Amino acid sequence: MRIYGPVPSRRFGLSLGVDIVPHKVCPLDCIYCQLGETDCLQVEREDFYTIEEIISDVKEALEEGPAPDVITLAGSGEPGLYLHLGELIDELKKLSDAPVLLITNAVLLTNPDMAAAALKADILAPSLDAGDVETFERINKPHPDLNFDDIVESLVAVTNAHPGEVRLEVMLIRDINDDRESIEKIAAITKRVKCDRIDINTPVRPPVPERGALPCNEDTLELAKSILGPKAVPIAKFEKRHRSQKQLHEFNDVDKNVRETLMRRPCTLKDICDSHGLDEPTASDIIHRLQAAGLITADHTDQGTYYRVPGQNPTSL
Ligand code: SF4
Repeated sequence: MRIYGPVPSRRFGLSLGVDIVPHKVCPLDCIYCQLGETDCLQVEREDFYTIEEIISDVKEALEEGPAPDVITLAGSGEPGLYLHLGELIDELKKLSDAPVLLITNAVLLTNPDMAAAALKADILAPSLDAGDVETFERINKPHPDLNFDDIVESLVAVTNAHPGEVRLEVMLIRDINDDRESIEKIAAITKRVKCDRIDINTPVRPPVPERGALPCNEDTLELAKSILGPKAVPIAKFEKRHRSQKQLHEFNDVDKNVRETLMRRPCTLKDICDSHGLDEPTASDIIHRLQAAGLITADHTDQGTYYRVPGQNPTSL
């Protein structure tokens, strides 16, 4: 089990990430997954770690600070696979005022225990990438026991029963689900889902292009926004969260923070500047120091140069 951060998240601010499922155990094998291919395609839920050890690690991270905006259950696999998820969320809520955020691919909401656990999360962030079973199979490559129609009905039921914030994410992939007809099929479902916001995303970071998941263009994001309605917001770019270097120095070494961010996901120089409130020369110096020490590497792609920690698993957060 690993605790990340707090690190800046594109969608939820400063996030203390809690991995409760080992890499990479998931009921899906999404072609856009930044964690790479799924090692263990499974739908059986289990306790990969004890609640006591998770709580102890989170407590320690909270004591070290800085205070996160959210405590996020996500990371190296699908958190819905954690058997005692509901009890874990209850315990996490006792630790701080930070809301508990559950990021989930939603496919296990068909399980009544998982559905009950999802209702306990202060913020529920499910995904929906397809409006029909063919697209679901093409993009998400599900475990054979999963049934698309059942998943949709469970998603509708759980979100309508959820007492808190629900943030749906829709990932658009070029030439697969970014045409008008595909988006309209997704919209037919999102109209029935109760949510506060729909984040429209597209896979802009490596290693996605190598798996055939290409980003759609900006016009398509606008088209999707017009079809999905007023709650829909394109989020393909990092939302700036300016924090001064002085603040970061108060809590952490900046180099360590940048490296920690790169452990979560590959970033461009601009991403690092935006997420850590650094100017470009300062961020470049940090990159050069980390590269010289062999702690990070650079991937040169059509979308730009992305820095990453070798051997680590970037996240979809
Ligand atoms: S993107 Fe999420 S749901 Fe899809 S394979 Fe990766 S971890 Fe699983």
